[in-house]
Amino acid sequence: MLELQLHSAATGDLELFLNGAYAPDDQFTVEYPGACQPGDEILLRDANNVRLAIFRVSRTSGTLARGTVTPIETPRHADFRALRQTPAQVRKLLESAGGGETLALATMDFLSLADEQAIESHRGTSVIHIIEPGPVDHVARVRAAQRSIELGLDASRIILNLLPYAPSERARLHAALTNYGATRIVEPSPGPCRPEVEAIRSQVIPPRHRQGFCVWFTGLPSAGKSTIAEHLAVRLRERGRTISMLDGDVVRMHLSKGLGFSREDRDTNIRRIGFVASEITRHHGAVICAAVSPYQASRDDARRMVGEDRFFLIYVSTPPAVCEERDVKGFYAKARSGQLTGMTGVDDPYEAPTNAHLVLPTSGTTPEESAERVLALLAGAGFVDPSG
Ligand code: ADP
Repeated sequence: MLELQLHSAATGDLELFLNGAYAPDDQFTVEYPGACQPGDEILLRDANNVRLAIFRVSRTSGTLARGTVTPIETPRHADFRALRQTPAQVRKLLESAGGGETLALATMDFLSLADEQAIESHRGTSVIHIIEPGPVDHVARVRAAQRSIELGLDASRIILNLLPYAPSERARLHAALTNYGATRIVEPSPGPCRPEVEAIRSQVIPPRHRQGFCVWFTGLPSAGKSTIAEHLAVRLRERGRTISMLDGDVVRMHLSKGLGFSREDRDTNIRRIGFVASEITRHHGAVICAAVSPYQASRDDARRMVGEDRFFLIYVSTPPAVCEERDVKGFYAKARSGQLTGMTGVDDPYEAPTNAHLVLPTSGTTPEESAERVLALLAGAGFVDPSG
């Protein structure tokens, strides 16, 4: 049987489909990268390989397949199980509360004062406050919503529920909310929250100068990436940040030990660095990556993994002849004498970036000056403490 491992968003989408949130739609859509045709069965697994369901293809369009689903196991959750009610369970709660008009407010952020006012202004109605998964930690958002209910909202009217997935299409989200029992949908309004909620928010969202970011140096071997990276690390430490350094040569001694220099291995190496960098930045760490990273596509993968708003691509654009003359590691000489093959800049390609945030020439300037320019870029984006 064909198999497909779903990433966590697709698993959440499947859970919503199976719990009745998309009714009456009885066909599910999966992105299947291989070839499949109507009648094929695909075993769907979650990211941990747990077998979730059998998907039976009814039609395909490009890499998308539509079909029916026979469940095997409900996706597991370790958190807030009592808040993960199905649409039928929520509708039952609403009925036992007397039915009538039901307001739904689905948020991916903390409940703002304006949201609380919107709830308060609809006196007499039941309210389902749906917390959607998203970039802002949902555990903190649930705690904050519970605190708002304790402090000011009428607890008897409010049902708090967690969605396993946030449908990106509005119509699909609204269909789901209606299945949960909403007769009216209020859009969330961003803005300040009550002080007790702000206190919880500031625990998980520090000020920007303490949030995570990734500086990614790319360039030919011996261009000056590691040298500038080291100077930058010092300057950032002086400004109170701790730094993780993912240097290409060092990474190949542990994380990517055993990988070679084929296109595939190079891509794997960059994706690994990107993955680690994304984990570090997600936990508010500052990470500097210095790897040749010759291919645009894998640099773009890293950028996507980390997030556009906190990824800075720096192209160290030292001319090939200068790099070869420097030859700090002696690899150019080895490649020229035929002792080494697949050397970037000699017999392997380097795709110069067209989307760098900064291009650093290294002739006529010092590594310190280059590091200073990167620091200024980071400061401009708010990632350096303005008070020094
Ligand atoms: P890479 O990490 O790109 O392979 P390295 O930083 O290890 O390159 O080596 C670059 C070499 O070039 C170092 O010996 C460094 O001292 C020298 N160099 C000379 N001028 C500069 C400059 N302006 N910026 C960075 N490195 C420079």
